[in-house]
Amino acid sequence: MEHITVVGASLAGLATVRALRAQEFEGRITVIGDEQHEPYDRPPLSKEYLAGTVSEEDIGLTDSDDVELGVEWVLGQAASSLDNAGKAVVLEDGSRVGTDAVVLATGARARQFPGGCPQGVHTLRTLDDARALRSELVPGARLVVIGAGFIGAEIASTAAALGCEVDVVEAADVPLQRPLGAEMGAVCGRLHARNGARLHVGTGLAELVGETRVTAVRLTDGRELPADVVVVGIGAQPNTEWLAGSGLEIDDGVRTDEQGRTTIPEVLAVGDCAHSYRDYTAGWLRLEHWTNALQQPAAAVAALLGREHSAPAHHSVPYFWSDQYGHKIQFAGHRSADCTVQVEEGDPDSGDFLALYLDAEERPVGVLAIDRARPFGQWRRKLAKSR
Ligand SMILES: Cc1cc2nc3c(=O)[nH]c(=O)nc-3n(C[C@H](O)[C@H](O)[C@H](O)COP(=O)(O)OP(=O)(O)OC[C@H]3O[C@@H](n4cnc5c(N)ncnc54)[C@H](O)[C@@H]3O)c2cc1C
Repeated sequence: MEHITVVGASLAGLATVRALRAQEFEGRITVIGDEQHEPYDRPPLSKEYLAGTVSEEDIGLTDSDDVELGVEWVLGQAASSLDNAGKAVVLEDGSRVGTDAVVLATGARARQFPGGCPQGVHTLRTLDDARALRSELVPGARLVVIGAGFIGAEIASTAAALGCEVDVVEAADVPLQRPLGAEMGAVCGRLHARNGARLHVGTGLAELVGETRVTAVRLTDGRELPADVVVVGIGAQPNTEWLAGSGLEIDDGVRTDEQGRTTIPEVLAVGDCAHSYRDYTAGWLRLEHWTNALQQPAAAVAALLGREHSAPAHHSVPYFWSDQYGHKIQFAGHRSADCTVQVEEGDPDSGDFLALYLDAEERPVGVLAIDRARPFGQWRRKLAKSR
C-alpha cells in the first residue's frame, strides 16, 4: 500500500493520520476536508470558545510535531463520491484522487429546522457557526434554544453566564431521556432552572416568527417566546450522502465491524460517521463522542495495515462528558431501556453525585457522575473489566 486517503479533516481524520505514522506507514497520505480550516476541536465551540475565554488558535488540533507527518492537505473541497471500489475519491471540482485505501472520517452535521430561517437563527457544529453565534450572544439578548440535548444545554449555560435571557425548549417530557433515562435526565434538566434559564418541556418549535430577523418562536402548545437569537439544537446526522452508490452499507452512518472495516476491503470508517459494532454492547452503535473519534482510528489503522493493536480496556467503554453551569457531567457505558438507576454516592438533589445503571440482571453497565471525576474514573475502569 503506497497511498492512503483520509476523507474528513477533523479529530478522527487527524487521529487516523497520527496512527498511520505511529504504526510505521511510510507511504503517501492525502487528507481531504471540506472546511477551509485546519483541524480544530469542537467541544469548546459550545463552551470556552463561545464564552470568549479561548481563541481560535487555542482550539487548533495540530501542533508543531504534526509537520513531521508529511501529509498532503486538500482543504476547502468536499469529496463527492467514492469510485472504483474505494480506489478513487472524486472531489467536488471533478478531480480524482487515486488511492490504495480510504479512511472515512466525515463526521456529522447539525440537523436543520426544515424550511427557511430568518436571520438570528443558528445551529452549532462548525467554527464558522460558533463565530456567528458568538457575535450575537450579547448581555441582555433573549436566546431561545430548541432542544435540551447536551449541546443545547451547553449553549444555554454559556449564554446564561454571558448575561443572556435564556429559554430552553424540549419536545420530550424530560431532557436527555434517551442517553440518561427519565430520572437522571430530570436531574440534569434541573440545572437550567437553578442557574436562571427557563426550561419548557413537552413542547416543540412550531414556527419561527420574523420577516428578515427572528423576533419570537411559536411553540406547538400555542405559546410564543420572544427571541433575539434562536439556536436549533435538534441533533446531528452523519455525513454519508456522498457515499450513495459506493457499495458501502449505509444505515445511520457507515456500517463497520469493531475495528472500523466496512463491506469494501481497504475502506474503513471512524468517528461520528461510523456505525460500528461494539463489543461492549454486543451490537452496533454510532457514537457522537469526542473520545471515540480520538481512539477508534488506531484500531482501524491496525486493521488496515495488518498490525497488532491493543488498547487499554477502558477504551471499549463508550464515554462522554458535558460541561454545564460550572458542573462536569460524565457518563460511561451504555443505558438500555430496562436499566434501573442506583445512586452510589452523593445526592442528585444537590447536583453532586454518582449513579450506576444496572441491567436486568443487576450488573452495572453504565455510570453517571456530576462533579465526581475521581470515583467516576474508577467505575469507568471497573465497567471495562466486568466485560
Ligand atoms: C459544539 C460541540 C460540542 C461538543 N462537545 C462534546 C463534549 O463535551 N464531549 C464529547 O464527548 N463530545 C463532544 N462533541 C462531539 C465531538 O466533537 C465529536 O464527537 C467529534 O468532533 C467527532 O469527530 P469526527 O472527526 O468524527 O467528526 P467531525 O468533527 O464532525 O469532522 C468531520 C469533518 O469532515 C468534514 N466532511 C464532511 N463531509 C465531507 C466530505 N464529503 N468531504 C470532505 N470533508 C467532509 C466535515 O466538514 C468535518 O470537518 C461536541 C460536538 C460539538 C459540535
